Amino acid sequence: MSKWFERALARIPGGVSSPVRAFGSVGGEPYFVASAEGAYVTDTNGRRYCDYVQSWGASILGHAHPVVVEAVQRAAARGTSYGAPTPGEVELAEAIAERVPSVEKVRFVSSGTEAAMTAVRLARGATGRSKVVKFAGCYHGHFDAMLVAAGSGVATLGLPGSAGVTEGAVADTVVVPYNSVEGIEAAFAADPGGIAAVLVEPVAANMGLVAPADGYLAALRARCSEHGSLLVFDEVITGFRLGPAGAQGRYGVTPDLSVFGKVVGGGLPLAAVGGPAELMDHLAPVGDVYQAGTLSGNPLATAAGLAVLNQLDEGSYAALETKAERLVDGLRGAFDAAGAAARVTRVGTLVGWYFSDTEVCDYEAARAADHRRYAAFFHAMLGRGFSFAPSGYETTFVSLAHTEQDLDATVAAAQEAATALPAGVGSGPSRR
Ligand SMILES: *Cc1c(COP(=O)(O)O)cnc(C)c1O
Repeated sequence: MSKWFERALARIPGGVSSPVRAFGSVGGEPYFVASAEGAYVTDTNGRRYCDYVQSWGASILGHAHPVVVEAVQRAAARGTSYGAPTPGEVELAEAIAERVPSVEKVRFVSSGTEAAMTAVRLARGATGRSKVVKFAGCYHGHFDAMLVAAGSGVATLGLPGSAGVTEGAVADTVVVPYNSVEGIEAAFAADPGGIAAVLVEPVAANMGLVAPADGYLAALRARCSEHGSLLVFDEVITGFRLGPAGAQGRYGVTPDLSVFGKVVGGGLPLAAVGGPAELMDHLAPVGDVYQAGTLSGNPLATAAGLAVLNQLDEGSYAALETKAERLVDGLRGAFDAAGAAARVTRVGTLVGWYFSDTEVCDYEAARAADHRRYAAFFHAMLGRGFSFAPSGYETTFVSLAHTEQDLDATVAAAQEAATALPAGVGSGPSRR
């Protein structure tokens, strides 16, 4: 065991600050990162990995992009936090509103969890209703009300929810299968006037990567409007990654509220909830929905976020999509050549895959994929110098720093790794 992991285990539960990092579902021990640059991370043993974790999607430009580093350094030299408003947060709020037409006003927080939690409280406050619909396999951070049938680490660990979450805390959470119009209709039929909000990842990216079925997001929009419920898009992964206006821009469906994180913080702790002024002004100090944060709108984080958004134009998204396509085409070919039953999915710039014979369109199918085979493949790739998420319930993040050579080397390694998978692993019926 590495000395860092040993020391971490003594002082940090599981040795990690967030559960999936512990490699629990793939086995082995996590590498500890010493530094990162562009598409690569280097661990404390000096091993270099071509990295597709990219801070779980926060680093769209790649690690330690010089423009971001400089913006953060300059901001730090002016002081790291004041407890008073700054020009940086105004500029970032303006930059978001410029790119996302449904957003007029923005409230900044420090994590996606906080942003989703704020959106739910705001929706309840604005509608005077209690119930919130979420979808099985979607992840909205770790606040109590949304820790049922959640994706990401909750799915990775195979938990139905979490200990410490009371029945009361989830009593107003209605769980519906993703991609099922009948599911959402049943939820509304059961309580037509009681649903404050429908909270959804417009592209589900915490159970692997599942695209919305044709017309699905529009159906959610229509049902919400019919019943006076707010449609909330959790764009923490999709926002500023699928394009300047995220999934709502890509699919042409306008939510009432949007939740942003990851890319918008440029790799620093920052997230946001945004929407029309009329809704956003329910938040204190204008309205009566309370929400606050000592480090909210932190000047280092807003500087990083602005630097990143200013680097991204239509050309960058086109370039990123070309990279994602190259990787996906390559992986499909590699898995086919290796005779591995796999479904590689791509939504614009987002990439995912399952070791599965069947199409994956919801959480049930994502769970039925062969996660033991994923684990074996993960280690085969890590051993070859390519780091992917240590869980089959996450998304693969290509950054603008990945070169064609990086992508082609990844595909070549994937073909070797898939061919070399031990016969016993995952060759039988799907295992969970
Ligand atoms: C990562 C994520 C969150 C939570 O964000 P944190 O910053 O980890 O709290 C919420 N929603 C989605 C869709 C996410 O991917």
